[in-house]
Amino acid sequence: MSDKIEKVVIIGSGPAGCTAAIYASRAGLEPLLITGSEQGGQLTTTPEIGNWPGEFGNPSGFDLMDKLQKHAKALGTRFVSAEVKKAILRGAIKELTLSSGETIRSSTVIIATGAKPRYLGVPGEEQYKGHGVSACATCDGFFYRGKDVAVLGGGSAAFTEALFLSNICNKVYLVHRRDGFRAEKVLVDKLKAVAASGKAEMVLGAVTDRVNGDGNAVKSLSLLLNDGSKRDLEVSGIFVAIGHVPATSVFADEIETDAEGYITTGHGAETQTSAEGVFAAGDCADRIYRQAITSAGQGCKAALDAERYLS
Ligand code: FAD
Ligand code: NAP
Repeated sequence: MSDKIEKVVIIGSGPAGCTAAIYASRAGLEPLLITGSEQGGQLTTTPEIGNWPGEFGNPSGFDLMDKLQKHAKALGTRFVSAEVKKAILRGAIKELTLSSGETIRSSTVIIATGAKPRYLGVPGEEQYKGHGVSACATCDGFFYRGKDVAVLGGGSAAFTEALFLSNICNKVYLVHRRDGFRAEKVLVDKLKAVAASGKAEMVLGAVTDRVNGDGNAVKSLSLLLNDGSKRDLEVSGIFVAIGHVPATSVFADEIETDAEGYITTGHGAETQTSAEGVFAAGDCADRIYRQAITSAGQGCKAALDAERYLS
């Protein structure tokens, strides 16, 4: 183990981590950023970003994240390509063990490890990710303008996605495994009103069996209904909205998380976790907004909170 004690180590290279790195670099904190295996984060998986302020040319997620990483590097952030495999966070000096076997010590840590959409794991789903299967209607709905699509799930996210898509698509099927919903009643009522006009249909008590395609794009969704019957929906897009899984398990013994694994913040400063000197930003600590710009904003706050803690 090196004797060096870093001032700030940032874990994650998505919008939250890169923005934290930009602010920490400009504050003279010489941050070290551990990229994780998905360098650039979730956004690198989407072909077009239409809602990053100032980037009205719809850059690819990869290009946008390349710019953020270059910005952080140009300001002096050191990038290390590795995963954090073990974290000791409760003492004054934090210790992170990396996938390379190296151990890094630091006075503060900013956790920006994101959250991954939960998927079903049915046949065809993985094959057609990015070619008809998506977990973000706000991001990808535009590609299905005028087409028939399905949204999977019965929570507020699924209803929000279905309502959003009903303004763009020809018809939206909301497919849910039971008859009752977790979603807010107001959202359910809104989608029922859309369904009455024929632009949406709720397919309830339906379990997804498989995603079907022609090798290039999705063509249909096969369902098993609770009454034993089967149904195929001819759709071009399938939006999976069955919740998110925060990437926080490696920290679970060291800091407080909620029942779903999201890191709790606000233990003092806004981005402060339950461990002093450890801050969290972005999707790993945000079960509601989960957008690139909100993650970047939280990354900025975490760097400012770390700077104040150190001073
Ligand atoms: P992430 O982007 O998830 O980055 C997390 C980082 O942490 C990654 O680099 C990962 O490798 C790293 N990491 C994880 N675990 C470890 C570990 N143990 N050790 C080291 N590193 C680790 N939002 C928008 O605003 N507009 C869009 O158009 C848009 N499109 C999207 C399209 C898709 C397909 C998806 C999946 C999401 C989209 N989003 C969009 C949401 C957006 O991508 C996320 O809100 C945002 O990326 C979250 O940023 P983050 O920095 O918190 O986490
Ligand atoms: P959620 O409330 O946990 O709902 C997830 C849905 O996915 C549930 O209907 C669940 O079914 C279903 N599901 C989970 N695993 C499944 C599987 N393996 N197969 C099939 N279906 C599965 O998650 P969410 O909708 O993402 O919402 C998360 C949080 O954000 C909630 O607190 C929500 O209120 C909030 N939110 C609010 C709004 C808003 O506008 N107010 C919008 C979006 C999100 P079961 O119900 O059968 O378990």
